[in-house]
Amino acid sequence: MLQGKTAIVTGSTSGIGLGIADAFARAGANVVLNGFGDAMEIERLRSDLACKNGVKVVYSPADMSKSKAIENMVRQTADTFGAVDILVNNAGIQHVAPIDEFPEEKWDAILAINLSSAFHATRLALPGMKKKGWGRIINVASAHALVGSPYKSAYVAAKHGVFGLTKVTALETAEEGITCNAICPGYVKTPLVEKQIDDQAKAHGIPREKVITDVLLTNQPNKKFVEVSELAALAVFLCSDAGASLTGTALPMDGGWTAH
Ligand code: NAD
Repeated sequence: MLQGKTAIVTGSTSGIGLGIADAFARAGANVVLNGFGDAMEIERLRSDLACKNGVKVVYSPADMSKSKAIENMVRQTADTFGAVDILVNNAGIQHVAPIDEFPEEKWDAILAINLSSAFHATRLALPGMKKKGWGRIINVASAHALVGSPYKSAYVAAKHGVFGLTKVTALETAEEGITCNAICPGYVKTPLVEKQIDDQAKAHGIPREKVITDVLLTNQPNKKFVEVSELAALAVFLCSDAGASLTGTALPMDGGWTAH
């Protein structure tokens, strides 16, 4: 379905981004993997995705907190594949602390990686999409783009910002064959959440299982983690012809959390 298209998925060496990259490759797209991790493991992921699906997969080590690195990643993608057809702004980090104890450097890093990187990648990818008259931008936001939770000031601020950026991008590109939407997952059991489970278990002095049921999934009415494969299928749908008129939205996939 996505044969001949090229997708950049930021933060795709792990979790949701890796699931989306895998689904795009299975749908026939060439993929630019990005993110941190063990070099050998990343090379294994890259060559597996390419061989299994008969597509080209390249890896960019660009640090999403650095606009120059994002510029290089987008330029190299255009040089290698001719264009960026699909951009998934997914890279993200989390830090949990009360506002009056929130480390300044964590605030800056979360805003840079979770919000500003989406602005930079979008502004750099848009000219190529406009030239082709086709493009798909998917911002992996969060239920926290729509509601707040205590101790997550930077994350909630960044994710609400991502939804704002999504709306403006959609409005500016509505006549250009480009769509931009925010996917808003509830809790998904990825390394990002595993770390929160450990941190909260320590902070509250309770077992991991209790953090899952009493802290994380307490707001998620279906009491289940969202599966990476469900989010990846939604991303593929957004890139399909059937997704052409869907733009400027926040799409919650959160087991009913934001229906509260
Ligand atoms: P993850 O920790 O599994 O993956 C994060 C990815 O981002 C990794 O590939 C990591 O290497 C990369 N990354 C981190 N800092 C980077 C940087 N400076 N430059 C480049 N890459 C960087 O986390 P995940 O749960 O898959 O999260 C992916 C996105 O989904 C994030 O934006 C997160 O906020 C969002 N999200 C996650 C959940 C959840 O419950 N897991 C819920 C809602 C939204």
